[in-house]
Amino acid sequence: MDALDSACALEAKQTAMALTNHFAKQPKQTRLKSAEECRECGLAIIKARQEAVKGCQFCTDCQELIDKGKL
Ligand SMILES: [Zn+2]
Repeated sequence: MDALDSACALEAKQTAMALTNHFAKQPKQTRLKSAEECRECGLAIIKARQEAVKGCQFCTDCQELIDKGKL
């Protein structure tokens, strides 16, 4: 395994962990339909995020601010 492989593997692992944490925090939203556009800034939410985070209503940037209590 070279450096690029291990970097990709690490990134995939961190993404999986972040999604697991997200689901653990918001179990009630897993059945909701995801929004196609962010409710805060109106930007399109990418399909992968809509499918990965069931019921998501915000783009990753806005969700991060919300999680930090800044919105
Ligand atoms: Zn947004």
